[in-house]
Amino acid sequence: MSAFMGRKVALITGAGRGIGLAIAKSLAAEGYDIAVGDLHEEEKVAQALQSLKDRGAEVLYCRADVSDAAARRRMLTTIRERFGRLDVLVNNAGVAPKVRADILEATEESFAWVMRINLQGPYFLTQAVAKWMIEQKKADPEFAGCIVNISSISAEVPSVNRGEYCISKAGVSMATKLWAVRLAEFGINVYEIRPGLIKTEMTAQVREKYDELIVQGLLLQPRWGLPEDVGRAVAMLVRGDLGYSTGQVIVVDGGLTLPRL
Ligand code: NAP
Repeated sequence: MSAFMGRKVALITGAGRGIGLAIAKSLAAEGYDIAVGDLHEEEKVAQALQSLKDRGAEVLYCRADVSDAAARRRMLTTIRERFGRLDVLVNNAGVAPKVRADILEATEESFAWVMRINLQGPYFLTQAVAKWMIEQKKADPEFAGCIVNISSISAEVPSVNRGEYCISKAGVSMATKLWAVRLAEFGINVYEIRPGLIKTEMTAQVREKYDELIVQGLLLQPRWGLPEDVGRAVAMLVRGDLGYSTGQVIVVDGGLTLPRL
């Protein structure tokens, strides 16, 4: 019998809205209890949390900045006290630069800010979670952890007006490979999901620009991606549908990055 009783638990960072919330909803529907990490006051995300409870999940809200080491530690302690286990980590929280500036002009300040949230924070959160998952595996050979990193097509496609974002996501891509290699012996699978254009707050300011480009044929599947498109992809990975493919990249971009002649 498993050493761990009860339902499986998933931590999704930045799950107060957007892609993270859609991922949390997908995993709640899969039967997971959910720890939501985000920056907002709990009242601001009350509706989001309720939508997870409505799907049958027990929900824990952790107000934590993923770029803050002490906040990350507090978040994991709280999850341990509440649930006693963690089966899935989805590193989803991320930011675009506050100002889209040409790389000839962009500042070190913006570079450092984006890198701490998009790359350094998730990298060290993964380190701490990985140690806990290894501990769980040692206590229970049946334990099967899973870590999913939400990168972006920007890991591969340069945008010269947000270089720091592209570099952070390219880093997330390498972090995925590193953790997949390091954690394979413990049966912990690590994946990267690379979304394209997804309709969220993050892309609200560039909606019209991309509406136009979509009409002009930018995508093979001519519509904005929806947060749920990413949510379903994460559910597939967490269920183990691609259980023999650790370290791989799943592209969710409507064909944006498929080379054409
Ligand atoms: P979003 O709508 O801006 O949601 C991101 C959530 O994460 C927000 O609730 C945000 O809080 C939170 N967050 C920001 N910084 C955080 C931090 N330091 N610690 C904890 N939480 C933090 O963005 P999204 O479009 O859903 O994007 C989610 C992920 O997908 C990001 O990693 C993004 O880079 C990636 N992605 C998005 C797209 C797209 O087209 N939307 C495409 C490819 C990849 P605040 O509201 O306070 O900022």
